[in-house]
Amino acid sequence: MEEKRDVIIIGSGPAGHTAAVYTARANLHPLMIEGIEAGGQLMLTTEVENYPGFIDGIMGPDLMERMRKQSERFGTEIVTDNVTEVDLSSKPFSVSTSDTTYRTDAVIISTGASAKMLEVPGERELLGHGVSTCATCDGFFFRDKELLIVGGGDSSMEEANFLTKFASKVTVVHRRDSLRASKIMQDRAFNNPKIAFMWDSHITEIVGDGKVAGAKIANVKTGEESLVDTDGVFIAIGHTPNTELFEGKLELVNGYIVTDGTSTASSVEGVFAAGDVVDFKYRQAITAAGMGCEAAIDAERYLEALHAG
Ligand code: NAP
Repeated sequence: MEEKRDVIIIGSGPAGHTAAVYTARANLHPLMIEGIEAGGQLMLTTEVENYPGFIDGIMGPDLMERMRKQSERFGTEIVTDNVTEVDLSSKPFSVSTSDTTYRTDAVIISTGASAKMLEVPGERELLGHGVSTCATCDGFFFRDKELLIVGGGDSSMEEANFLTKFASKVTVVHRRDSLRASKIMQDRAFNNPKIAFMWDSHITEIVGDGKVAGAKIANVKTGEESLVDTDGVFIAIGHTPNTELFEGKLELVNGYIVTDGTSTASSVEGVFAAGDVVDFKYRQAITAAGMGCEAAIDAERYLEALHAG
């Protein structure tokens, strides 16, 4: 058992590091437990061109390294371990890693979400090299290219439409013969002349040497497999928020942490949440960073009242 902390930040993506910079500069001596796989989803991307301040763009892992250094510069203590257990039922809260239990007055959760993957050969190797889980982030790189997008939900339809701003053709590969997406999103996709559909189909392998060149696609009904040439494969089959630790301890909806709508306060006083673990709508590095700032300010005000009171 360690001495009590003012604030512990769980997670080390843009939300966590922004919260760290703000709480550190507010003299709250934050402890960040960054996880074994630190840095979040940007560690899986290549070029980031939409994060303000980087005129020529920056590689995702470089951006996260800079954020980490900035957190450290103001005195954030960073532990490279996973949180194994949290107790939010009594105050101070406790947060445990494999070998230490920390007590803390406030917690900022920024554990993010993970894009679901197809788990087929070639996918992980070519992630950031033609395979993408974020059309908003990467669509721009595919001007006049032919793309595949996997999934039949609202995200897939929205991203397919968005990608047609750049791509010459976008083919939706869906495992069934009807879409899950809402009617209005379906209609928009059906009416877009640049969008085609491959029904009852799933990708069995993504091929390419250093960058995507094609995908093997099997028809689930006939078993017939074909190799389709493509410049990019966008995966839009949903996200999983990283909230197993908080099940039964915080209010969650569809696995996402519920905040009170006007702040980053969760259902437990003193516990704040920011970034993709809350936000299933925007999912951008910059929106996560913005929420991290809000969580830091919310935590600071909470602690001020706690200590005054
Ligand atoms: P989703 O609704 O869960 O859809 C996921 C899609 O991916 C489904 O069509 C599913 O197929 C398919 N899929 C899942 N696992 C797969 C796998 N292993 N291989 C191949 N295909 C797979 O997820 P989402 O589209 O990300 O949406 C999440 C939530 O956000 C939804 O509630 C959605 O309405 C909402 N959303 C709303 C908007 C909007 O209104 N503007 C935009 C984006 C998202 P099946 O259909 O066969 O299950």
